[in-house]
Amino acid sequence: MSLEKIRNFSIIAHIDHGKSTIADRLIQMTGALTDREMKEQVLDSMDIERERGITIKAQSARLRYTAKDGEEYILNLIDTPGHVDFTYEVSRSLAACEGALLVVDAAQGVEAQTMANVYLALEHDLEIIPVLNKVDLPSAEPERVKQQIEEVIGLDASDAIECSAKTGFGIDAILEALVKRVPPPKGDPNGPPKALVVDSWYDNYLGVVSLARVYDGELKAGSKIRFMGVGMDYPLDAVGYLTPVLQKVPSLKAGDVGCVMAGIKVVKDARVGDTITDARNPAPEALPGFEEAKPMVFAGLYPVDSADYEDLKEALEKLSLNDAAISYETETSPALGFGVRCGFLGMLHMEIIQERLEREFDLDLVTTAPTVVYQVELTDGTSVEVHSPADLPAQNKREAILEPFILASIMAPSEYMGAVMTLCTERRGIQRDMNYISDTRVMIQYEMPLSEVVMDFFDRLKSATKGYASLDYQMLDYREGKLVKLDILINGDPVDALSVIVHADKADMRGRELAKKMKEIIHRQMFDVAVQAAIGAKIIARETVKALRKNVTAKCYGGDITRKRKLLEKQKAGKKRMKQIGRVEIPQEAFLAVLKVD
Ligand code: GDP
Ligand code: MG
Repeated sequence: MSLEKIRNFSIIAHIDHGKSTIADRLIQMTGALTDREMKEQVLDSMDIERERGITIKAQSARLRYTAKDGEEYILNLIDTPGHVDFTYEVSRSLAACEGALLVVDAAQGVEAQTMANVYLALEHDLEIIPVLNKVDLPSAEPERVKQQIEEVIGLDASDAIECSAKTGFGIDAILEALVKRVPPPKGDPNGPPKALVVDSWYDNYLGVVSLARVYDGELKAGSKIRFMGVGMDYPLDAVGYLTPVLQKVPSLKAGDVGCVMAGIKVVKDARVGDTITDARNPAPEALPGFEEAKPMVFAGLYPVDSADYEDLKEALEKLSLNDAAISYETETSPALGFGVRCGFLGMLHMEIIQERLEREFDLDLVTTAPTVVYQVELTDGTSVEVHSPADLPAQNKREAILEPFILASIMAPSEYMGAVMTLCTERRGIQRDMNYISDTRVMIQYEMPLSEVVMDFFDRLKSATKGYASLDYQMLDYREGKLVKLDILINGDPVDALSVIVHADKADMRGRELAKKMKEIIHRQMFDVAVQAAIGAKIIARETVKALRKNVTAKCYGGDITRKRKLLEKQKAGKKRMKQIGRVEIPQEAFLAVLKVD
């Protein structure tokens, strides 16, 4: 296939605007799959993903399409993850394309992640084709949304395509536009091979499979390849296309997008963004921009039953076969025993890993409140990275604590702007910009500490705007903050896993609220439990959980044995997520309580 007949494209959209449904339709219309093979939402392959309605790992499909000009074209669809936690992966997928469909829900209009994705696409010089989806909805206003695309994004929307992925209307127009408007790939078919790793995943039978976009040369099965960033050579066992079912071919040529299988054992060795070349005929330099995904948020994961510790480690090892961004190290907590401290790209990444550990590996875990990475400057002139409040060097040893800042972009209807601004200010935000994107919608930008966003910010934002706000953020830098460690003591003993790093101005209030919250959460025991909040040696709050006097089952007077049993079973189930600390049982909610106070 000559380069002239290839089109490489992605679909970018705010979540729920219809990216996956459009992808399904494109696959269906080009006959890549028979109806029987056409499961709903083929591209979202993992269960959790489907339930959450988001795409975690990028996947792709090679579509054959005979255009109105009578010629057959190859359309390579490269699916991108749609969430801010995975920005680097989105960026790499877009780097492999010449064009992008910009899908905007014609009833919702432009949202924060629409903008973020457009910026990424523009950075890669992609031809952007605006697509207004869901025009079947009575509330669709395609003309208004076109105007918004022109005014807010600055893209020409005069030949935007109106479609409905639900009814199939307009899908043929999208296929034609891809052929006519997206430029064919450029490259030197005879040069030394150069291919970009767009995605890598672990397959039980094949080992690591990488999806790669070939720029120059040819990757031949049987040759020896080199991953230039990681610096490792492998024999190339096989290459193939995803149609979306894997179809092996003798080689991948310049302009192609396809799979590379080289018997690699973990995805860390075939990283997204790395350049593949031929080990015997290597390219002089790698493609630009290979980065390692850096964890931004850390949390402790502890098995409820300490006997499950080895299982937890084994499960994490398995998960990291497939997730190069996950990192973990052993952690011991005097309170919680053996566990791991895990690094995540962001909050969503963290939730997904926790859920997979519990669901796929059947582990009951206690999770500590997530913390960002702090840089602590010490009095001896050195500095350390701190991933856990428990590791914060003592006050007399530290000079300064620096915390990561982000630029948050929020879009919401103008009537909620007051509430949004109040929330951002409470979270130590500094307003940077504010623009009307239509008569009724505003985009506002704040510089904010990441730690404040980790603390329940998105849920608060949603409730402050009745669900109408959208959020996107990017990392800025590290800044010095007036930060202190707030400890919680149970019956006089500090519980390391309950410590948090907070801003000094808020520490007193947080301490009081946290102690109060703990009092509500900790069940009454057979004895009084003292809950204290402290900063250094100073106790700032004290609450008491009063001792239980009566037997719980006592209220089931009479001989109602089934009711009694039910109550006992309920107690047992409630116990699942408890940790015994000293003589006191602490429920899981206590470890996350800090996220719920402000
Ligand atoms: P994604 O998050 O961008 O991948 O969005 P999905 O493709 O998962 O779609 C989000 C929701 O919108 C799903 O419930 C779809 O069934 C629905 N949807 C997608 N396209 C259309 C459309 O053209 N019309 C209508 N009415 N609903 C649609
Ligand atoms: Mg989707």
